[in-house]
Amino acid sequence: MLDDLKDKFHDECGIFGIYLNHPRHDSEAAQTTFYGLYALQHRGQESAGIAVSDLKRIQLHKGMGLASEVFSPEIIARLQGQIAVGHVRYSTTGESGAVNAQPLVFHYLNGMVALAHNGNLINTKELRANLSAYGSVFQTTTDTEVVANLMARYSKDHMEDALAKCMIDMKGAYSLIIMTEDRLVGIRDPLGIRPLCLGEMQGSYILASESASLDTVGAKFVRDIKPGEIVVIDKTGLKSIQAVHSGRTAHCIFEYIYFARPDSTMDGINVYQARKAMGRQLAREADIGGDLVIAVPDSGTAAALGYAEESGLPFEEGLIKKRYVGRTFIQPTQAIRELGVKLKLNAVHEVVRDKRVIMVDDSIVRGTTSKNIVKMLREAGAKEVHMVVASPPTCHPCYYGIDTSQREELIANTMSTEEIARHIGADSLHYISMEGMVNALMPKTDDFCTACFSGEYPIA
Ligand code: SF4
Repeated sequence: MLDDLKDKFHDECGIFGIYLNHPRHDSEAAQTTFYGLYALQHRGQESAGIAVSDLKRIQLHKGMGLASEVFSPEIIARLQGQIAVGHVRYSTTGESGAVNAQPLVFHYLNGMVALAHNGNLINTKELRANLSAYGSVFQTTTDTEVVANLMARYSKDHMEDALAKCMIDMKGAYSLIIMTEDRLVGIRDPLGIRPLCLGEMQGSYILASESASLDTVGAKFVRDIKPGEIVVIDKTGLKSIQAVHSGRTAHCIFEYIYFARPDSTMDGINVYQARKAMGRQLAREADIGGDLVIAVPDSGTAAALGYAEESGLPFEEGLIKKRYVGRTFIQPTQAIRELGVKLKLNAVHEVVRDKRVIMVDDSIVRGTTSKNIVKMLREAGAKEVHMVVASPPTCHPCYYGIDTSQREELIANTMSTEEIARHIGADSLHYISMEGMVNALMPKTDDFCTACFSGEYPIA
């Protein structure tokens, strides 16, 4: 894997589901789900899968790779039915493999079920042990199978009651889309850590990780699924059950910093505007003399625009991101790996030469990429390179479904800001303050999980 891929936190999954009331053709649900996954591809590139139901049985196709590699028009045409659920997954080393690709389809007392899961349970070990004691057998290493077995355990109950019981047992961060032969169900964890929203398209309902995927398929955003809520969609419409009341929320703040698309709106906050507000706040806090502001594209762009606006300095495209870096480079040869960041980015010499450059990025995880980019800017003739970061130092790993480096690999865990600046070769380094970051979003600090910065985990 490219070093710079390891140098970001990674969301682990994107999920999308649709219940079509009046499909225009047999594979419309699968086709719409494919485009939904395509729009969510940034949330996971290792595997993709779609399950469909024609109200009688569930069919599944999944495989390793991008949605466009896993699904051909012929495969989509075979996936016939009016309900569909899809999943894209980013997996950590050791967990990668077709067996862990989702959705997971299984039989239980009441029929067939397809499950797509985004997040991470923190009591999986305990749940597995309990379930195994009751005779459950596990084939994968995913939390999703634990959820499936929990559902099976409560299968004598009415489905909504069974799911409410599962939610009491499950501890952690999760958004789930569950499809039975005749229903589509969305569930969000009691603190709303992982996102899930509801859309509507010509009287049909859609569930998705991000609102941008609703725009892509031509659906209207209706609302976010509430923390602790279960929504059940069937031929009679939509039913909402507030299964768990926690009295507080802990939305993952990293969605706004890096994971989500800027054109998505989550829990009432547009991601682009949030990043821009963080950039403006950063400019107020850092106050560095410079000639121009550049972004590490794409996730640093909105914050860089905010920084430029607030500081009065011009924003320039000093780094150009190469598009079309396909999967060829996901597992490069040693020779290609040595080219490192140059495969993805290049400096515009004419923009940065002899300039005091303020470079804005969303986060620093291990520092490898930042070091390479600073070097690239200096080689392109930049007089000074000041790095500003639109998130506080990331010192703590995430246990809620985000692939972070080990604690000891997080550079901010072992070095001071001055040491990191020296390590990456920057003239100075400035992080946004925790208070500044949260205030840039809204003044209620208890609304977000900020554990990877603060070490204060919302679930013990
Ligand atoms: S620890 Fe960080 S990445 Fe994980 S849920 Fe909390 S804010 Fe998001």
